[in-house]
Parts: sequence; C-alpha cells; structure tokens
Amino acid sequence: MLKGKTALVTGSTSGIGLGVAKALAAQGANMVMNGFGDVAGAQAEVAALGVQVAYHGADMSKPDEIAAMMAFAAEQFGRVDILVNNAGIQHVARVENFPPERWDAIIAINMSSAFHATRLALPAMQAAGWGRIINVASVHGLVASAEKSAYVAAKHGVVGLTKVTALENATTGITCNAICPGWVLTPLVQKQVDAKAAALGLPNDEAKKLLLGEKEPSMQFTTPEELGALAVFLCSPAGNNVRGVAWNMDGGWTAQ
Ligand code: NAD
Repeated sequence: MLKGKTALVTGSTSGIGLGVAKALAAQGANMVMNGFGDVAGAQAEVAALGVQVAYHGADMSKPDEIAAMMAFAAEQFGRVDILVNNAGIQHVARVENFPPERWDAIIAINMSSAFHATRLALPAMQAAGWGRIINVASVHGLVASAEKSAYVAAKHGVVGLTKVTALENATTGITCNAICPGWVLTPLVQKQVDAKAAALGLPNDEAKKLLLGEKEPSMQFTTPEELGALAVFLCSPAGNNVRGVAWNMDGGWTAQ
C-alpha cells in the first residue's frame, strides 16, 4: 500500500518508533530512521522487510540537527511523504523538585521537535498534494498524572500542534493526527516499573500489575505492533478524512 512512499520516524531505534517503522516498511515505505542506542540492530530489522533504509542521528533537542536530518531525507529519497514524530523521554518528579534542565529537555524533545520536523516537512508535502503526519502523543496529551509535569505539558502541546496542522491543511491531501497510547512496555516504561519495584520491594511482575492497575482497566500493555497498525490505517486511503484527532489506544485509561 505504501510502495514508493518515504517515511521518516523519529526515535525509531527502540520501542514504539521501531514498531511503527516496521509496520510502515511492511507496507512498502522506504524508511529514514533516527534515534540512539542499537542503531544497526534496528536498521537491520526494518531492512529485512525489503525496503530501503537510511539513518540520521539527529539529536531531536537541537533544531539545527533536525534541519540537517530533513535535508538528508530529501537528498536520499526526494521527499518525506510520511512523518512520524515519535522521539520522547520521561522524567518523574514533583513540580517543586523538577530539575529545570529536564523540563527544557522534555519540552524540546517531546514537543518542539515535532514543530521543527513538521514545519520542514510540509512544503514538499504541499507541493506533492499528499502527506501524513502522525504525532505520537500519549494519554498524557489528554489527561494528567502526578509527577509528570513536563511530559504532560509537552504531550498536551503536541495534541494542540496536531489540531492546528490538520486545520491549516484541511483542504489538501495532507492529514495530521495524534496517537495516544496508554502503557506500552518499552524501555521508557520499564524504567518506571523498575523504580516502583525498588521503592516497594516488589518483584517486577507485581510492579507491572500495580502500574497497570492504577490507570489501565484492560490490565494489558498496548504493543508497538498495535500502534504500528493504527499508523498504517492513518496512512491508508480510509484515513483520508481523519484530521486532527487524538486517537487513544489505552485500554480504557481515559474512558474513566
Ligand atoms: P523508548 O525509550 O523505547 O524509545 C524512545 C526513542 O526516542 C528511542 O529510539 C531513543 O533513542 C529516541 N530518542 C530519545 N531521545 C532522543 C533525542 N534527543 N534525539 C533523537 N532520538 C531520541 O520509548 P517509547 O516508549 O517507545 O517512546 C516513544 C514515544 O512514545 C515517546 O514520545 C513517548 O512519550 C511515547 N509514549 C510512550 C508510552 C509508553 O507507555 N511507552 C505511552 C505513551 C506515549
């Protein structure tokens, strides 16, 4: 379905980003990957799906590196048809104890990076008359949890950016939507499980159940594969008129 298209997924070396990259590649999209950690392993997983894969190591907290990544993508494949703004980090502390430099990093990586990548991707999409922008927000783009001020602020901001981008392009073939996962068992969440297990002296499985039980009625983690399938739907012709939504995949978290 996406043969001939190029997707760029930020933070695609791990977790949800890697799951979304694989789902889009399985539909034939060539891929520009980004992120840190096991770059070669992640690239190999996507390349195994038979598409062309390029990688750019831009630090998403740095606008000039984001600009270099977008220029690199255009050089490699002509243009970016599908942009998935996914890179993100977390830090957990009460507002009065929240380190200002962690606040700045979360706002930059989880929110401002989506603005920079979007503003640089739009002109080529507008010239082509087609594009898909998918922002990986969170249930925390819709509701709050204690000790996540920067994350909740950034994700609410991303949902706002999603709506404005959708509206400004509403008469075109470019759609912009947000995906709002509940708990997904990636390294970002495993750290929170580990912290709970250590604080309460619990085995890891018990800490996972406690984490789910506090928020997620299904008592199940959403998977990167499920989120990848939602991204594929948003890129499909059936998604042509889905514009500016924040779509939960949260096991009932925000239904309460
Ligand atoms: P993860 O830690 O598995 O992956 C994060 C990715 O972002 C990695 O590829 C990492 O290298 C990359 N990254 C981090 N900082 C970066 C930077 N400065 N520049 C470039 N890349 C950077 O985490 P994940 O859980 O897969 O999170 C992906 C997105 O999903 C994030 O935006 C997160 O907020 C969101 N999300 C996660 C959950 C969850 O439960 N895991 C729930 C809702 C939303």
